[in-house]
Amino acid sequence: MGTVNIIGAGLAGLSAAISLSELGIRCNLVSVQASERAQSVLAEGGINAAINAMDDGDDPAQHAADTLKAGVFLADESAVHGLAENAPVIVRQLRKCGVPFNSKGGMILQRPFGGQRKTRTVFSRSSTGKVVMTALIDKVRYYEANGLVRRYPHHELTRLSIKDGRCCGVSICDVYSGETTQFDGPVVLAFGGMNGLFPAMTTGTTANSGNAIAQVFSQGVALSNLEMIQFHPTTIGINDKRCLISEAARGEGGRLYILRDSRKWYFMEEKYPELKNLMPRDVVSREMFFVSHDKSCTGPVFLDMTGLSSETWRSKLPDLRSEIIEYTGMDPASESIPVAPGIHYFMGGIDVDERHRTNIEGLFAAGECCSQYHGANRLGGNSMLGAMYGGHVAACEAASVCDTGSEAERHCGVMQVQRASSRCIDGVRGILEGSMGIIREEGTLKSALEELDGMKAGLDPESIDFKRVVLAEAIVGSALLRRESRGAHYRSDYPDRDENLRCLSLAVFDKGEVGIEFKR
Ligand SMILES: Cc1cc2nc3c(=O)[nH]c(=O)nc-3n(C[C@H](O)[C@H](O)[C@H](O)COP(=O)(O)OP(=O)(O)OC[C@H]3O[C@@H](n4cnc5c(N)ncnc54)[C@H](O)[C@@H]3O)c2cc1C
Repeated sequence: MGTVNIIGAGLAGLSAAISLSELGIRCNLVSVQASERAQSVLAEGGINAAINAMDDGDDPAQHAADTLKAGVFLADESAVHGLAENAPVIVRQLRKCGVPFNSKGGMILQRPFGGQRKTRTVFSRSSTGKVVMTALIDKVRYYEANGLVRRYPHHELTRLSIKDGRCCGVSICDVYSGETTQFDGPVVLAFGGMNGLFPAMTTGTTANSGNAIAQVFSQGVALSNLEMIQFHPTTIGINDKRCLISEAARGEGGRLYILRDSRKWYFMEEKYPELKNLMPRDVVSREMFFVSHDKSCTGPVFLDMTGLSSETWRSKLPDLRSEIIEYTGMDPASESIPVAPGIHYFMGGIDVDERHRTNIEGLFAAGECCSQYHGANRLGGNSMLGAMYGGHVAACEAASVCDTGSEAERHCGVMQVQRASSRCIDGVRGILEGSMGIIREEGTLKSALEELDGMKAGLDPESIDFKRVVLAEAIVGSALLRRESRGAHYRSDYPDRDENLRCLSLAVFDKGEVGIEFKR
């Protein structure tokens, strides 16, 4: 029996491990932190599936259509249809293994989420990620007891083994002892987003440091759509980090306003009468930016949840309310909360095809680390789904190339764990923050690239610092290349969409150079 190596044990990694176990194939499940601390646990609002429980005529075709439209037609159509068609099955399986979704009289309840014409988001109060992860962790423990899963928490990816263009294994390193182990076999990458590149601006965990994607990029793994970074409209700043107020708050009736000429202006409702406060996240974040820079407006944008009923607070958003009270000292049931957009999701990442294969044979990727399903902008509730479905698809593909003869594991001794220096982290962060905001333009992007080039001088090309700078170069270079505005990427110098650019931007590191072009 062969073994597949999974790097990352959030929703995508756990889903891959379960699918492999169900096929009777062993896997090593490696993660820098235990699953209980993966970012997936933070997911609040819910997971999308067109189960039509609210009887509003929903079906998977409409789910796919909304997903493609919100992604401004950059996502692979066939892959998105696969995602939407499989969503009801995934939700049913989760319920079967004990996930306590909110329900009434035995029927699952759904809530409205941004950018969707139907009430499609299945949820468990405002802690959906926690309960789904708990169920999947339990399931993986069962397979672990049966010898199908070996877990390696507190280990990080150090290097892929690539021979003659084929991935034939991976090295991992114990983050505490420095002990390095080499595994043979196909690899599924599921290491989440690049939050650690934007530590002060992100709602996600900085344990997803960006080091893993920087490493695999330096080894020739192609990345796509890196310029597509989602800003979530409603976040609050706490201790040098952004804390999310879930879209569920607006799904359940929360409203955005700013003071204009000293009166509350519910600008989303006036500008977008159909979906109002539930326009896709890119549109809401941009509008917040514009009204905050409007001379007739003063102060921050506020989220007004004071109209929500006590029943809604009690049964649907209890944890959200207590978190806001704990972090801000303000009770959202009685006063409006000042909010600002924060970086929430990376639509871009490792370039994969519909079957989650990368450009390297034997190497697959799933979840937030890969670029699939969300195009130029992700719908809320679609990423838990994408992580679970993608993990399953990647696992099936990896299983099909798993060499049943090989079972090698080698211990390679102790090495010094490479950490990015704070100088590099701060340098890259400052450059990215200055150039990759909600509004971008050529001058700042070009200066950012010059600064990054300057940072490389004197760095060892094998160091993680160098690789992080190169990754940042690819991100900024992708934003510079895309001379149009589409989804999360808004260029003030090219404010219109250009249908000739309805294609992925593809970044590759080859012979010491970052190359970026459109994949037509
Ligand atoms: C606050 C918040 C709320 C959200 N709410 C929702 C929601 O309601 N609905 C929704 O659909 N989505 C939501 N999302 C997004 C969603 O949670 C994530 O996109 C999704 O869970 C990602 O799953 P993943 O498995 O790809 O990554 P993660 O859960 O981030 O897991 C990554 C794994 O990789 C490991 N890892 C990282 N680096 C390394 C390394 N170098 N070596 C080895 N292992 C490594 C980590 O330890 C972890 O195990 C939310 C996100 C946030 C931050």
